[in-house]
Amino acid sequence: MVDMNRIRSDWPGKEAVFQPEDQSRSAEVGKDVFEMMDRYGHEQVIFCRHRGSGLKAIIAIHDTTMGPALGGCRMAPYGSTEEALEDVLRLSRGMTYKCGAADVDFGGGKAVIIGDPKRDKSPELFRAFGRFVGGLNGRFYTGTDMGTSPEDFVHARRESRCFVGLPESHGGSGDTSMPTALGVLQGMKATALELWGSEDLSGRTVAVQGVGKVGARLVRLLVEEGARCLIADVDGSRVDALREAFPDAVEPVDVGAVHAVSCDIFAPCAGGGIINDETIEELKCRAVVGSANNQLEDDRHGDRLHERGILYAPDYLVNAGGLIQVADELSGYNPERVMAKTRSIYDMLLEIYRLSREQDIPTYRAVDRLVARRMEQVADLRRIFLGL
Ligand code: NAD
Repeated sequence: MVDMNRIRSDWPGKEAVFQPEDQSRSAEVGKDVFEMMDRYGHEQVIFCRHRGSGLKAIIAIHDTTMGPALGGCRMAPYGSTEEALEDVLRLSRGMTYKCGAADVDFGGGKAVIIGDPKRDKSPELFRAFGRFVGGLNGRFYTGTDMGTSPEDFVHARRESRCFVGLPESHGGSGDTSMPTALGVLQGMKATALELWGSEDLSGRTVAVQGVGKVGARLVRLLVEEGARCLIADVDGSRVDALREAFPDAVEPVDVGAVHAVSCDIFAPCAGGGIINDETIEELKCRAVVGSANNQLEDDRHGDRLHERGILYAPDYLVNAGGLIQVADELSGYNPERVMAKTRSIYDMLLEIYRLSREQDIPTYRAVDRLVARRMEQVADLRRIFLGL
């Protein structure tokens, strides 16, 4: 049932040009779509078109063993329908693993809207999208991702209740960076326990790449724990703000060299793919624990970290705090419950480290195995008839 091939949700649409009438590509997709679904193990793919608003969207539901599919909605000027389909298939499969690792009762799904977020957005477009999501009758819940904002989904929410991550003024839980940063901190504590026999981070040096919403909160939490932070960000004003706030505990380092400074933990909190052929041999840390999605450019980089004895906290487990928060909205948002669940990332990561140690496998493989086992257990439970 569970496809153990690894997924990578890279970002292929960045430089692409949207070609709205690319018929030949669409025909190609039609021919291969079932094959692509089989390759990734998908249950359902829905193509959504509303001519009035210009909506072209694809919703992919990967696996609902653990519950309704949950995953963000991306908007981007994809170069072709095929490219959009490939992205939504890979991202939705990633969500199955992410939900499984976070132990929330949701499966994996994702949506993409084909269009330029700066030019093609309108209330009608999101309302049309909302009607398609509503038509799935609770099989799929979605919200913000790259290219979309919580405000966009205020329009979509008028057509269906299946939207999460709305602004607080509209009943949503708001910014997810706090639980995300807390989850990363818990990951660091578990890592410290694994490496040094104590979860105490005081006196440890952490190099943080990217001090945006999550990175800056993480630095604050680390300073409270008595750690020293080496920080880098392409936006110098963000570095300056933290340096002013914590002159004794924070030190700026060069943006191009933050991964290569000597430290206890390297925390990637900017873009993906930071652990790659160029950076991996330059790392001078004992562990990599950060919020960025898709930190390993390729699986083999996870293997190489394992060989080098650098402990890698799988990104989709340690950055699950935000997911835990939006999933909680569907049970009536409770911040204390979110924080308690986020703290449990600590125990889950220790379990991953144990599996990795005992079976001598890289941690990214250990977390996949754990999720596969969890899904099998849930599938087994669902064999019990609930009654009519
Ligand atoms: P953000 O945009 O607020 O912050 C990212 C920061 O990284 C910015 O300050 C940016 O200037 C900086 N940056 C970009 N490229 C850089 C580079 N090459 N070197 C140094 N700094 C660079 O985003 P965020 O919400 O803080 O998210 C950070 C990462 O965590 C992203 O990869 C995101 O996908 C992931 N993540 C975030 C959440 C969340 O709840 N916000 C949840 C899960 C995962």
